Amino acid sequence: METLTKLIEFSSEISILEISYLLASILFILGLKKLSHPATARSGNLWAAAGMGAAILFTILFHKKDGAPISNVIYIVIALAIGSFIGWYSSKKVKMTAMPQMVSIFNGMGGACAALISLMEFPKMQNMMASEGVAHMLGGEGIAILLGLMIGGVSFAGSMIAFGKLDGRIGDFKHPVLRIINLTFLVGLFVALALILFMKPVEGNNLPIYLFALAALIYGVTFVMPIGGADMPVVISLLNSFTGVAAAMGGFLYGNQAMLTGGILVGSSGTILTILMCKAMNRSLLNVIIGAFGVAGAAGTEDGDKTVKEISLSDAAVLLSYSQKIFIVPGYGLAVAQAQHLCHELDNLLASKGVEVKYAIHPVAGRMPGHMNVLLAEADVPYEKLVEMEDANNEMSNTDVVIVIGANDVVNPAAEDDPSSPIYGMPIIKALDAKNVIVMKRSMAAGYAAIPNNLFYHQKNRMLFGDAKATLQKLVAEIKSL
Ligand code: NDP
Repeated sequence: METLTKLIEFSSEISILEISYLLASILFILGLKKLSHPATARSGNLWAAAGMGAAILFTILFHKKDGAPISNVIYIVIALAIGSFIGWYSSKKVKMTAMPQMVSIFNGMGGACAALISLMEFPKMQNMMASEGVAHMLGGEGIAILLGLMIGGVSFAGSMIAFGKLDGRIGDFKHPVLRIINLTFLVGLFVALALILFMKPVEGNNLPIYLFALAALIYGVTFVMPIGGADMPVVISLLNSFTGVAAAMGGFLYGNQAMLTGGILVGSSGTILTILMCKAMNRSLLNVIIGAFGVAGAAGTEDGDKTVKEISLSDAAVLLSYSQKIFIVPGYGLAVAQAQHLCHELDNLLASKGVEVKYAIHPVAGRMPGHMNVLLAEADVPYEKLVEMEDANNEMSNTDVVIVIGANDVVNPAAEDDPSSPIYGMPIIKALDAKNVIVMKRSMAAGYAAIPNNLFYHQKNRMLFGDAKATLQKLVAEIKSL
């Protein structure tokens, strides 16, 4: 009778745990769905976080090992508190322009966790099998552990290098020999994985697994080193998908459905995002990985003979106030200047004068996908005013003025008319199809792709030099005084 009670108790707790994992998985999926639109993204984030919170809480409460509940709850709570504080504090402090760096650190931590799980579990499994006299390590668990370690290790080391590059602490290192090294490491890692799996388990001999982990870390470094700084967001998205796969391996190992679903969702969404970003830049993933960007980076020539026309604040104010339709093209410089609120003030002011104002959003404007959407949402710009690139381009011919604020590469006509340019083929916002263009930036300096922009010299264009925030402030004042 006592055994029967225990069995019922055990199975009901197992099912509570499984139901909680199902609930967590549903919350992840719904959260992810909501993340696909700026209006629902905030709540989507909370839903997914609630799913993760529930999965952690229910695991602590109901997970049992050999019939006994978790014994080290106090350490888990302390670790959770420290991790949560660091996460909360850094996301409060981080500047919008430094978001990619933060994403890469957080992603690296995910990869490290997955690798550490494997590093912890493999020796345990090996010792157990050795004492049982098992002939080899081959089996679902062995493969999951080694793949988790390999992918997690690459993701951790790669993300740390990506962070260093984005933060300007590490430069690119391009050398043809790196391609050979990388290929050797990649093949070597898979060969080592197979060798470890087919090896007879030897109790206490952990050297092969530690060497394997070290090789994965080194490959993570050499894999990211040659990739151009401008391609880092793509790489982070790719590494993010790696982390998802590594976490899914942990889920598979522990039979934890929430971890498995979460890992698969991160892995697949990271892959989709990587593909979309490559598409938006008209690049292949291979082209990004081999570090082709920046090698031909100086394509296009700066012609000293070309003249640049400037526009005064008062002329700009008159032109804008008497226009019927205006497109604002925001770019990375708008985020740097933190001028999104003033930008919204300008569009409201012009709208009050009967001007139709919309924003043309390029998919890779800024430094991360959706950067401009988030930036403008922060300033309460209504979502209906944000127009995707293709739709905006269709409306350009009946637009009076395009105001380019802190954008450069995403409006560079070299992408359409200079086959030697590294960005040739990348879809751009066709500002030149409009009747007039005003570009606001501080100087004639190039953008992220480090190539000159002939739009600035075009007869339709006039430059309004200065920091975007200061210039917008003056422009708003000028329009108000008309
Ligand atoms: P760019 O980096 O091409 O240009 C930004 C411009 O902003 C610079 O030329 C700079 O000129 C100007 N600027 C900087 N600070 C200020 C300021 N305070 N006030 C006014 N202007 C300022 O930005 P885009 O958004 O046009 O293009 C994004 C680039 O990033 C593309 O090359 C894209 O491929 C790349 N990329 C984006 C990804 C994404 O997911 N969003 C992913 C991978 C790559 P100046 O110094 O003269 O002021």
